[in-house]
Amino acid sequence: MVSRAVSWRRPLRELAHGLADLILPPACIACGVAAPGLCPPCRRNLDWRRPPACGRCGEPALEPGGRCGGDHAELRHIAQLVAPLRYAGTGGALVRRFKLDADPGAAAWLLRAMVGAWQAAGSSRWRHACLVPVPLHARRRRQRGFDQAAWLAKGLGRRLGLEAAAGVLVRRLDTLPQGDPRVLSRQGNVEAAFAVQRSRPLRGRPVVLVDDVFTSGATARACARLLRDAGAAEVAVLTACRS
Ligand SMILES: [Zn+2]
Ligand SMILES: [Zn+2]
Repeated sequence: MVSRAVSWRRPLRELAHGLADLILPPACIACGVAAPGLCPPCRRNLDWRRPPACGRCGEPALEPGGRCGGDHAELRHIAQLVAPLRYAGTGGALVRRFKLDADPGAAAWLLRAMVGAWQAAGSSRWRHACLVPVPLHARRRRQRGFDQAAWLAKGLGRRLGLEAAAGVLVRRLDTLPQGDPRVLSRQGNVEAAFAVQRSRPLRGRPVVLVDDVFTSGATARACARLLRDAGAAEVAVLTACRS
């Protein structure tokens, strides 16, 4: 009975959003106050990761096209890391609205920001890449009603003209969320959680791993290593926010 109730949650939520749009004035997509799009305070709290950015890790670089001076040892299997926003402030609020409330306005806004950041990073070596979402565990997908990274990968595929390859990675273990205080080692929490289920779209190709947030990078590192082992030529990571 529980799964049945859960399967109705999303349509009901969408219906509620639709009805609210008819009755109420437009609400800020991050905080919900009456304002079209983003209200002025939420706009001011957007922490954009402005160029020039390091071509490898996306942190501020000294000059356009330059590097940041970091040693990038943690990014051994990640060739490039792109994220338009910091998670602090409005970026995180938008991700939570997207992920927890399935808010279509927040989803569309984040997708546009990711497309813009990817195009600004402007690397032609990824033009034949396939997009691979970081998967949710099946149980969590049922609870949430949708898979946020798969949704982003699909939208990015349409807008960037890249193949979004679903079902490449699977999450075998329903690990604790990386931010959970019970997680003592983020790397240990995710190490055995993922597996490559379908390697055919990867072989010899560049791959862009897609997720909503890059925090410690433990999830992205574990997935990138698996993708490389399964034959991906190189792996970039594209997320909406990073901490
Ligand atoms: Zn607001
Ligand atoms: Zn760097």
